[in-house]
Amino acid sequence: MCVWKSSLKTRSVKGIGSMISGKDIHVMDLSKRVVIGPDVVDRIMEFMPRNLRCARKYFIVTGPNVWRLYGEKLEKAIGAGNATVEVFKATTAHIEIAEQIIDEARRFGAEVLIGFGGGKCIDLAKYSAKNLDKPFISVPTTASHDGIASPFASLKGTDKPTSIKAVEPVLIVADTSIIASSPRRLLIAGAGDVIAKFTAVLDWRLAHLLRNEYYGDYAASLALHSAKHIVRYSDVIAKSKEQAVRIVLEALISSSFAMCIAGSTRPASGSEHLFSHALDLIAPKPALHGEQTGVGTIMMAKLHRLKWKRIRRVLRKIGAPVTAKELGIPEDVIIKALTMAHKIRPERYTILGDRGLTWEAAERLARETGVIP
Ligand code: ZN
Repeated sequence: MCVWKSSLKTRSVKGIGSMISGKDIHVMDLSKRVVIGPDVVDRIMEFMPRNLRCARKYFIVTGPNVWRLYGEKLEKAIGAGNATVEVFKATTAHIEIAEQIIDEARRFGAEVLIGFGGGKCIDLAKYSAKNLDKPFISVPTTASHDGIASPFASLKGTDKPTSIKAVEPVLIVADTSIIASSPRRLLIAGAGDVIAKFTAVLDWRLAHLLRNEYYGDYAASLALHSAKHIVRYSDVIAKSKEQAVRIVLEALISSSFAMCIAGSTRPASGSEHLFSHALDLIAPKPALHGEQTGVGTIMMAKLHRLKWKRIRRVLRKIGAPVTAKELGIPEDVIIKALTMAHKIRPERYTILGDRGLTWEAAERLARETGVIP
């Protein structure tokens, strides 16, 4: 089991410090504690930050399947500490569901919100916690993207397809026994979401150079480090289960921390994410987020003149999709998504520029990188 504790001094319950540069004040909110290991859900109360130890009302946002499989474990672990639990089972991460959660959690008198499940439950819980001004605990049951530890949520029904600012988890409890039993496809998608940092960081740097956008070298290095971690351990990820879970989890969590430090999703999300968001809007059946960002990274890496073949090799080695066919998405949808990606979030400057790719340029890029034949 591994427990990461923030080494920075706490100045308040929410904020852990500030860095003053010139006239600007840059505030970084980080999680207080990260626990990774087998069966750590059973011991969740041991890891509670001191200021939450006297909390008595826990509101859990989960999914029906996760609750059926593991609900008893979590309920028993929390109930053993004389606390009461209310459970909300959600199947979609929609803003209307989030409003229901906020109402029910308020009525219950929730002191703490827990997201227990995949990305949807965690996003709903973190958004609701922000609106209720209550602490949020992340208990992921999959390692499929870096939302498990980031302060950003993506919800349907809002006016944007990208993430919205929510709140960082005060505690992350990643139970490797549970995560290892989730489908391998989810874990590999998680690795694809981390690989995306290679191009996300370059897009961020470009926006800094061309648009004078704030750029944090430390946050960028940390995000890049998480992508390199996946490359370095790609053989282990390809062959193992338990070890792969730990490697991908650590990389996802450090990428989330890069976002916390930057105060935006910039270090984790660039043109490859815009491409993935475009696919979410137009694909008849989108693939997993991390699968799409992985394929996006191959193509955006070519535009950035990075070693895109190496990125493709790593993705292929760990069993991630690298072609339109493997994503299950028609070729013309891939090209269309490439041409519209720059419009998804116009304020986010990337290698795609203000005008994006023409149909011909997009088609050539997809063909030259082998995404389409
Ligand atoms: Zn992502």
